[in-house]
Amino acid sequence: MSGGIFRRGFAFIAAAVLATAALVLSAGLAVSERAYVTSNAEGLARAARAAAAAFGAMPGGSDRAAVEAALAAALAKDSGYRITLVDAAGRVAVDTRAESAAMENHIDRPEVARALAGEASWSRRRSATTGEWMLYAASPLRGADGAVIGAIRLSLPLPALMEALGSAKTIFIVVAAAAALIALAASGAFVGSLARPVEALSERARRYAEGKAVAGAAPPAAGGGAAEGDRGLGAGAPAELRALSSSLDAMATELTRREAEAKALGERYSEIVASAAEAILALDANLCIVEANPAAHAMFGAKDASLIGSPVAQLPGGAALAELASRSIAAKQPTSDDVALYAKAGTTLRVSASPLGGALPGAVLTATDISVMKRLETMRRDFVANVSHELRTPIHLIRGFAETLRSGPAGGDAAKYLEIIERNAVRMERIVADLLQLARLERDPADWLHLESCSLDEICGSAAEAMQPQASAKSIKIVAELEPGTRFRANAGLVEQALVNLLENAVRYSPEGASVRLEGRAADGFVELCVRDYGPGIPAPDLERIFERFYRADKSRDRKSGGTGLGLAIVRHIAMAHGGSASTESWGDEGSRFMLRLPLGGP
Ligand code: ADP
Repeated sequence: MSGGIFRRGFAFIAAAVLATAALVLSAGLAVSERAYVTSNAEGLARAARAAAAAFGAMPGGSDRAAVEAALAAALAKDSGYRITLVDAAGRVAVDTRAESAAMENHIDRPEVARALAGEASWSRRRSATTGEWMLYAASPLRGADGAVIGAIRLSLPLPALMEALGSAKTIFIVVAAAAALIALAASGAFVGSLARPVEALSERARRYAEGKAVAGAAPPAAGGGAAEGDRGLGAGAPAELRALSSSLDAMATELTRREAEAKALGERYSEIVASAAEAILALDANLCIVEANPAAHAMFGAKDASLIGSPVAQLPGGAALAELASRSIAAKQPTSDDVALYAKAGTTLRVSASPLGGALPGAVLTATDISVMKRLETMRRDFVANVSHELRTPIHLIRGFAETLRSGPAGGDAAKYLEIIERNAVRMERIVADLLQLARLERDPADWLHLESCSLDEICGSAAEAMQPQASAKSIKIVAELEPGTRFRANAGLVEQALVNLLENAVRYSPEGASVRLEGRAADGFVELCVRDYGPGIPAPDLERIFERFYRADKSRDRKSGGTGLGLAIVRHIAMAHGGSASTESWGDEGSRFMLRLPLGGP
């Protein structure tokens, strides 16, 4: 019985049993003592009445006193009582234990006083004469005329009486002690029978609470031997505790199931958040990060979980993020904005903030990198502006000269005006043709690109031949240096066009009499086609951008040169359609070199 509640319970029951036994015992003793004394006193009183009748019937005379004394002595001897006779004034006439002459007046003794008043009675008190506890019974003595002439009192020492009662008391105490012991043993056994199953239940509940055992897997309590169905309660466990045990198991099973459900749900949400492409940040009311998914860590260049706990304001662009979150919390509604990350130049985030309520006050930020979208948007705008700009000049010229021709005779200039109109119409046609070709090249190559086995010699030869008239016009020599017998899979027409575009630029930007080199070789699984010129070169800042549509290194000069500004964009798109690349390098006044790299086996 190790459980505190049961030890205390047993102590309580034991105290109650002992207190009850003591109360019952003392009440029983008091009642029995009283009954014993009363019955003895009443017997004494009856004897006193009988003696009074005998003494009262005695004839009077001079020797009455002696007769009374003798009779009293005889009665006392036979009965063991002390006998006292008093006259009507309370004076002691005869006493069988003491010298009557020496005894004080007994008028104030209660039983004597009542007897002298004509009424028999008894009392219990300590004797003034002998000092002993005594039981007294007195009865009036009446003369022949019925008048009270004195009283007779019988007395008995109480210790003698109590001695007789003593053995009865011993029996009482023994019986009471035995009853108390039986009650204690029975309650101990009962408490013990409750303690074991309750302790087993509490141990099981503790294990469930610690999550150490799941329902249905709890081991039987120490001591073993219990039937599987007992689950450690013991065979004699009360039905109520068995029901409690079943409920506990059912509750643990339910808790285990719900815990598993909650865990699975949590894992599912974590996976969803972790796999989201958008950066997700959960902020508390102080705008500190409490959750951040891997995309958020990647976006802000932080290691795994390192963002958690830090204020959002410390992130790159954090001031704007914090401001957005505060705004959303204050307005209690979602809000969004574009945030530029100056730490990562050219990076723009579209951030949405939604307020969180309830258990987790704060906000959730979701951020998407829209830099590419922004760039595309800028390119689209630039493109439209560039096309308009490129077309506006020839349109103006055509319109102007057409109006001039219409407004009157132009004389000898008419042919010149018509030539200008035609040249600009051709220019517009070329721009539109190049734009259309670019649009075609931008489609998925799988849908339109036809590959064939191409000979490096043939393609380069055709391109050089096509450029020959323009080159000759500027006395430019095209020098080819080609790896003989090189073949590769590509669309021959497109590769030739790319080479023509590059040669055209080389011839266009080279001074008269210069030479242009056309080189071709196979290397590392690629065919490399290079066009080298010794013209003015390309300023370093423009090197990467000259492949963009309409980009010109030297705006005024290049437009006059007659190009559309789309030649290199077409070259790059042809290279990309083949799974290759186009690049350039330049050495200032020493000219430039353009290179096409195409995979030998095709894309
Ligand atoms: P364009 O029709 O104007 O030549 P491209 O797209 O072919 O358009 O070329 C873009 C720009 O690149 C040109 O305007 C010019 O500034 C520069 N460029 C191209 N090729 C050369 C070259 N060989 N030497 C110097 N600059 C060149």
